Amino acid sequence: MQKSFQNVQAQAYANGAARGARYLQTISSRQVKAETGAFARLDPGLATDGMTVEAILDLMEEVGGEGTVASASGRYFGYVIGGALPAASAARALLSAWDQVADALTGPSVVRMEETAIRWAVDLLGLPVGTSGAFTTGATMANMTLLVTARDALLARQGHERGAGLHGAPKIRIVASAEIHATVLKSLRMAGLSSNDIEWVPVDREGRMDIGALPVLDDRTLVLAQAGNVCSGAFDPFEELGELCKAAGAWLHVDGAFGLWARASRQLEHRLKGLEKADSWVVDSHKTLNTPYDAGLALCRHPKEMEASMAIGAGYLPAAESNPANRAPEFSRSARGAETWAALLSLGRNGVAEMVERFHRHATRIASELRALGFEVPHQVHFNQVFTTLPSAEEACAKIADHVQRSGEAWFGQAAWQGKKGFRISVSNWSTTDDDVSRLITAIAQAKRDLGV
Ligand SMILES: *Cc1c(COP(=O)(O)O)cnc(C)c1O
Repeated sequence: MQKSFQNVQAQAYANGAARGARYLQTISSRQVKAETGAFARLDPGLATDGMTVEAILDLMEEVGGEGTVASASGRYFGYVIGGALPAASAARALLSAWDQVADALTGPSVVRMEETAIRWAVDLLGLPVGTSGAFTTGATMANMTLLVTARDALLARQGHERGAGLHGAPKIRIVASAEIHATVLKSLRMAGLSSNDIEWVPVDREGRMDIGALPVLDDRTLVLAQAGNVCSGAFDPFEELGELCKAAGAWLHVDGAFGLWARASRQLEHRLKGLEKADSWVVDSHKTLNTPYDAGLALCRHPKEMEASMAIGAGYLPAAESNPANRAPEFSRSARGAETWAALLSLGRNGVAEMVERFHRHATRIASELRALGFEVPHQVHFNQVFTTLPSAEEACAKIADHVQRSGEAWFGQAAWQGKKGFRISVSNWSTTDDDVSRLITAIAQAKRDLGV
């Protein structure tokens, strides 16, 4: 007897979910590095006839699963990746069954979840009333969305018509921190702005913009600051920047991909004092908040400006205020913001604060234990990032990172910062425990001994 399509689909979904559950059950004990030896099996050739779901999932599990870096585990300290909170990955699973497009007409409930999540994030981060925004695939796209918005707003103030393109447009000045994230430069180029004539602002030893070295601003200037330096975790001086930008009529944009969430903690929020004075902010859900990839948020004090730049306005679309496609680059996309909604529901205010404070506590301990092992940490622990070097043997740092990666005990990467070679540790996984931190430190000490440095 033939099964209904529905049964087949439900069974396939349950099969995939069961394997996902198996993976999650073993994630804390598995090695962090990937097994790549069997990757050739991932290309059995494009067959004339298709494979069964069971066979596809077997292949995925055996080769794909073993071929993952366990970046969702508590012993992954590379880049700023983050894991996925139970509620957020469960929401992802349910969303994948719903397969909704984030559009007010075809995905009304998920759009409501996204809009709710945006309001909660604005509240939690202490941003001005009236701030709104949209979900994107990540901070790169969120930065691009807001740089396009800022560009259009600054040009419109000069009398340049929106939609007239950049040809013959007045010049926009760009003032940026010397340590702005590399992807912001890409976002700038995607926004049609040049990264060649940026007026760079030098940073201090912590990686913060040196406010005394800021050029004179005017109302044609876009200022690019950051909340969370990728090496030191440091925050730019938003209070002073905000006042200067406001007085000059400049647009202040803050890239807070991982660092903005520190604002949710009473203990840490003073480090981001004045953040609310900016015009636009970017924050990822998929990093510090620990939702699954990919989800970033573009937030703007002037949502009407965002809509003026991003609205679609096709004849067959109703002028629905709540269509997220009118505030973001994509037209059709997944309802990724619903995972942020689930993450915030599961943590609550206290949970978010407790989580970011835990990241800070682990990072503080890591810095102090590294110093005890003879490493130099040339910055204060501002948030969750630790850059370190061996003053007498900088070259050995990459080898130490490599040695630990190969051991499968933990994962972090080499880095160079302010003329020093070293490695960088990021604490951004909800499930990282004190024991995971101990294993990290032990692995580093072992690598140092094995390499004789
Ligand atoms: C990761 C990161 C980005 C880019 O974010 P994606 O979500 O990977 O696009 C931008 N800025 C900072 C500070 C980051 O850490």
